[in-house]
Amino acid sequence: MRCSGSTWQRLALGACLLLGTARCGQGFTMRPEGGPPDRPTAGAEVPNLDGGERCGPYSAETLMQCVDGDRIEQDVRAIAKPGPPSNTHHLAARTRCAERLSALGYAVSLHPYGTGTNVIGTKPGFSKPQQQVILSAHYDHLPGCPGADDNASGLAALLETARVLVTARFDRSLLIACWDEGERGQVGSAAYAREARARDDRIVGMFSYEALGYASSEPNSQRVPDRFEEAFPDLALALLESDYRANFLTVVAETATEPVAAAVVRHGQALGLPVYVLSLTERQKVKQQGLPRSDHASFWDAGFPALLLTDTGSFRNPHHHCQTTPDAPATLDYQFTAMTTRAGLGAAVELLRLR
Ligand SMILES: [Zn+2]
Repeated sequence: MRCSGSTWQRLALGACLLLGTARCGQGFTMRPEGGPPDRPTAGAEVPNLDGGERCGPYSAETLMQCVDGDRIEQDVRAIAKPGPPSNTHHLAARTRCAERLSALGYAVSLHPYGTGTNVIGTKPGFSKPQQQVILSAHYDHLPGCPGADDNASGLAALLETARVLVTARFDRSLLIACWDEGERGQVGSAAYAREARARDDRIVGMFSYEALGYASSEPNSQRVPDRFEEAFPDLALALLESDYRANFLTVVAETATEPVAAAVVRHGQALGLPVYVLSLTERQKVKQQGLPRSDHASFWDAGFPALLLTDTGSFRNPHHHCQTTPDAPATLDYQFTAMTTRAGLGAAVELLRLR
């Protein structure tokens, strides 16, 4: 993901903040549903996939409990290595995605588009298979930069989510996509989105996982662009109250995906994870000048509903794109990554419509 300092000022009126009891600049309020997570019915067999917390394919909450932070860390450490595109490591990341999804039981297809190759795993929906939910992350990284946060963390979160969701049955089809050339201007996701539009695919929501692993509880660890307080007074106030701690997940959404973003907020809240939502207007989506640009924008450009989950990258991570020091696995917070993965998974389960 590439961000610029002038980015967030332009979000202006379309942006809203959801933190704690959520407040939104567009005038609506959302509150968590609260209450304890759903539990499996008495007598049901509860698989114990991670050897720890109870988990099972019974609700968004029990599926969220299946997320295993150790698996995410193992994947990040395996994926995050320096090297240019098209080197053996780049190919290894692609192969890892394809082989993992295939082993999990997804129908895997490669999507070559000229300059690169996407990997798509499909789990057909039960009653509405033509309606698709796409969860995705780009698997390439900048040449010479290990790319632990950007984007081994996103890819590892995606693969762990794929592992958990394959245990459940959904009305809608689940597509797991590993995009190529995310760091070259979202070339892979743009190629796929254009073809999906030409096919008239029914994509009801697309998630982009982009940099999900860096967090800090230190005061003033979250940076903001110049004049941010003027453009986003609600968000600025919340940041001030939290001493600008970089301990939250950010969702960049749009009108069509606000309900999905609200679900991320609700599930994040249940975990103790603050979530900020920036909901963009149509004009802001099209303009995209300096916005946190990720693969979700490719789907916006093609007219599909999409959203981005991110730790804000360069606004908090001093290792972002290896500008000063390596974006290495040791710099990430894997407990935070597990929480962001869980929050995204919970929202995805709702959109997929668990049977
Ligand atoms: Zn990236």
